[in-house]
Amino acid sequence: MTAERAAELFKGRFGGAPDGVWLAPGRANLMGEHTDYNDGFVLPFALSQATTAAAARRTDGRLLLCSRQEPDDVLEIALAGLAPGTVTGWGAYAAGVAWALRSAGYQVPSACIAIDSDVPAGAGLSSSAALECATALALTELAPSELDGAPVPRGELAAIARRAENEFVGVPSGIMDQSASLLSQADHALLLDCRSLDRSQVPFDPAAAGSRLLLINTRARHDLSDGGYGRRRAECEEAARLLGVSSLRDITDAADTARLADPVLRRRARHVVTDNQRVLQVTGLLRGSPEDRPDTYREIGRLLTQAHSSLRDDFEISWPEADAAVEAALAAGALGARMMGGGFGGCVLALVPEAASGPVRGAVSEAYARHGWTAPEFLDAVPSDHARRLA
Ligand code: ADP
Ligand code: MG
Repeated sequence: MTAERAAELFKGRFGGAPDGVWLAPGRANLMGEHTDYNDGFVLPFALSQATTAAAARRTDGRLLLCSRQEPDDVLEIALAGLAPGTVTGWGAYAAGVAWALRSAGYQVPSACIAIDSDVPAGAGLSSSAALECATALALTELAPSELDGAPVPRGELAAIARRAENEFVGVPSGIMDQSASLLSQADHALLLDCRSLDRSQVPFDPAAAGSRLLLINTRARHDLSDGGYGRRRAECEEAARLLGVSSLRDITDAADTARLADPVLRRRARHVVTDNQRVLQVTGLLRGSPEDRPDTYREIGRLLTQAHSSLRDDFEISWPEADAAVEAALAAGALGARMMGGGFGGCVLALVPEAASGPVRGAVSEAYARHGWTAPEFLDAVPSDHARRLA
């Protein structure tokens, strides 16, 4: 995404030039699925795929919004009346940020904002957080007040964007997506402790080790997803209660989950406990000595595949298109692969030696054709920089 492309869209919809262009990336998650609401660890990184917001100030108390991905709409929203429920559809992600900023005591300027993105929407790469974070940067940096022009701290901005999604849009998501978009560094993954909100950068440059990360958009979304998410959360809470801890984060030995009599709860808990361990194992490997790199990436691949088995068999949130993509990728030379995200749809993340990239794509495409499924979409996942101003 470029500032020029964003400015061109702005000019076409609103006339004139924007005052600025901001960009916020989508994200992938290397390890740690359904660990966030169990107070555990996640290890996301920002993608090169991103959302831009080209914006200019107005003086009429309104927010005007358009998006290249929603060509039929120009939304006009009165800032004064903003409250959850007043805006629905895609505009809620941006309007919600304006609302959450105001609720946090920040002044929000009237503005026209033109949105554009190459993050596929609804594929689990967090196009929603990219939209929120691009809007949040635009709205806070368009109007630095004369007196206290200091930028809003990134951690606080992430919490504000999350609040927009949780309370204004109405999606009960964790802090990972907005943190990854606002706080990631190129060639690093972001280790987040979802209990303390401590975060640290972990060197992560697969290309330097002759590998690449491939995202396979399975193009599938199976219906149980919503009820499935709530049910998993409830099961994890119940498992923690029965084990006598405030959250599953506090169980560090997977053998302790054997104390759960119910086999379903036992499996759910085992996934959370082992996935937390895998996040810390991957972190340890990446922080290890560079000479060990080829082994490091082989080992990370093994952990990815192990995580897939755990998500499929213990947490039971995988879906046929993901299982087939993982299987085909491994057979064609991937070091490891797993489903990513909440489950029942979205992307598979595969770690692939450079030379196997073509064969892996070919094998996954062939498997999908054999099943008669919609062809998968492939994206390179390159650990990239956080949200920023482009122009
Ligand atoms: P994900 O975050 O995994 O991509 P979500 O369902 O959380 O999926 O968010 C997708 C929604 O976010 C879209 O349906 C749309 O409402 C909104 N959205 C994301 N990117 C854009 C965009 N560029 N323009 C308009 N709306 C967008
Ligand atoms: Mg989302």
